Amino acid sequence: MFKRMQWKIVFMFVALVLVIMLIVGLYILGSIIAVNNGAFNEQLDKVMSGEFTQVLGDALAEDVSSDERTRRVNSVISAFSSQLGLSEQRQCAVLSAVDASRIVSTSGEATKTVLEKTPNIIQAMSGNTGKRTQMTAAFMDYAYFLDNGDGSGGYIVYVKDNKQSVNSIIKNIFYIIIQAMLFAILASVFLGYFLSKTITNPISVLTEKAEDFAEGNFDSNLEVFSQDEIGTLVETFNYMGGVMNNAINEVAGEKHKLEIILEHINNGIIAFNTDQEIILINSAAKKMFLLENIKEIRFDSFFNSLNLNICMAEFMYLERFRTESREIEVNKKYMKAYFVPFKIENDKVAGVVCVLEDVTEEFNLEKSRKKFVAEVSHELKTPLTTIGAYTETMLDSFPEDKETAVSFLTTIQNETNKMTNLVKNLLTLSKFDAQSVEMNKEFFGLASLVRDISDTFRVEAEHKKLEILFNTVNEMPPVYADKFQIERAVKNIVSNSIKYTPENGTIKIYVGYLYNEAYIKIEDNGIGIPEEDLSHIFERFYRVDKARSREQGGTGLGLSIAKEIIQNHNGKITMESKVGEYTRVTIKIPIT
Ligand code: ADP
Repeated sequence: MFKRMQWKIVFMFVALVLVIMLIVGLYILGSIIAVNNGAFNEQLDKVMSGEFTQVLGDALAEDVSSDERTRRVNSVISAFSSQLGLSEQRQCAVLSAVDASRIVSTSGEATKTVLEKTPNIIQAMSGNTGKRTQMTAAFMDYAYFLDNGDGSGGYIVYVKDNKQSVNSIIKNIFYIIIQAMLFAILASVFLGYFLSKTITNPISVLTEKAEDFAEGNFDSNLEVFSQDEIGTLVETFNYMGGVMNNAINEVAGEKHKLEIILEHINNGIIAFNTDQEIILINSAAKKMFLLENIKEIRFDSFFNSLNLNICMAEFMYLERFRTESREIEVNKKYMKAYFVPFKIENDKVAGVVCVLEDVTEEFNLEKSRKKFVAEVSHELKTPLTTIGAYTETMLDSFPEDKETAVSFLTTIQNETNKMTNLVKNLLTLSKFDAQSVEMNKEFFGLASLVRDISDTFRVEAEHKKLEILFNTVNEMPPVYADKFQIERAVKNIVSNSIKYTPENGTIKIYVGYLYNEAYIKIEDNGIGIPEEDLSHIFERFYRVDKARSREQGGTGLGLSIAKEIIQNHNGKITMESKVGEYTRVTIKIPIT
């Protein structure tokens, strides 16, 4: 199939060949006519300058009858007819130079007939030789002025050739040219087709390649067919493909990098276009909002549902290029949201990127810090108020009886002890926080340590009519730990069991090991802990029943300290409980 380009090339090729042939043909025809005209004039010049005009002049001058004169002139013309080249096509006449009337003519036309006054005849009438030729004229003529001095005013020897012989040559040549042109058309269509193919084939290949480029495939390498301009174009194309491939790969690499960063960054990122649709979202953002169908989300409605006073129009129409920040609480998470408008080409906003920073940890930390300060203040305030009140009373009116005075002072002492206890515990915890607790690890028998502790508490327990049962395995291996700290942790837990187990209760203490792990279980059948409190029980100042704990002399820090100690030993402390049934604390520490 011919392609448009091929048609054009073939058409141009044919047109070019035809134009060339036409020019050449016209040139040939012109040359033939010119040569023919030249030869005509040359031949007649020669005849006229010779004997012919002499003899003709004499024949015209003779004083004879007009018929005789015509006869004589005719015989002179006949005698010179071959020199004059006379024939059917070429006639000779003798005209009067005065009025161009015909005196003698070889064609035998009536004498005295006035001929059409051609430019050459007019020229001859003025006494010169008229031999002008016209390419396009249907005939060629020659008019020679002959003055034989007979007083007639001169004669014109007029030769007229109807160009028939040259016309038939021209006709033949014309036919030959037409045939040649037809042949040239066929040949040029044929040649043009192959020529066009050599041009259009690489162009077709280049077009396919360009289409490949448009589809983003820059890999294929084109074969260079020739070393001409098209070859250079193909080479340039290959080079361009390579450059674009590199550029695309680079861009793709950068994009991939960016995607990986976006996917693995902890911050949530959502980009919206000005139609309020999501154009990019990373998995952190999806997780933060538990999003699934992101196609339906629109900027305004989405952030409105989160009670954020923000809308896309503010960025678009107020051309706000500054970052807006808001705080969001969603799914028990606290987030800082930064809204950053972005523009692409002109200065118009193209969308808004929302960067979400999960500040839950900081928020909770800040919250617990505030809570901690409030708790400490509160814990200190209560004994200080009591001490203040008792001191004031004593200062106002010092009790006269010793008993009341001692009772007042004992209360002051108890409250002071509570505060000292609290401050000591706080100091211990702050040491753990600062990781400045010194670990004095040694090998010791855990079972005997815990047995000693239970013995220590036995008096206090009996006081409350509680039974402490101790049990352990045989041949318990020594553990490598800070004996003093482990003792402190166990004491905190056993003392809790005594505190929160009503009379006639039992506290079972068990020490054992499994592989490289030693464990201590302390179980009581006391008041127990509600399930919802269990997850908070190791938090500082967390108490199920504040009044009861205070009443028991608790600070709410015992379990937190125990947990810090056990964690410092790479161990684990867990608590299970059922209200009114039991509370079981399990401590696990590595033996070595
Ligand atoms: P406290 O000084 O108040 O005992 P802890 O940190 O030792 O502080 O204990 C925290 C809270 O856990 C206590 O206030 C108490 O409500 C609860 N608790 C701890 N041990 C027991 C237990 N064996 N039985 C019931 N409640 C307990």
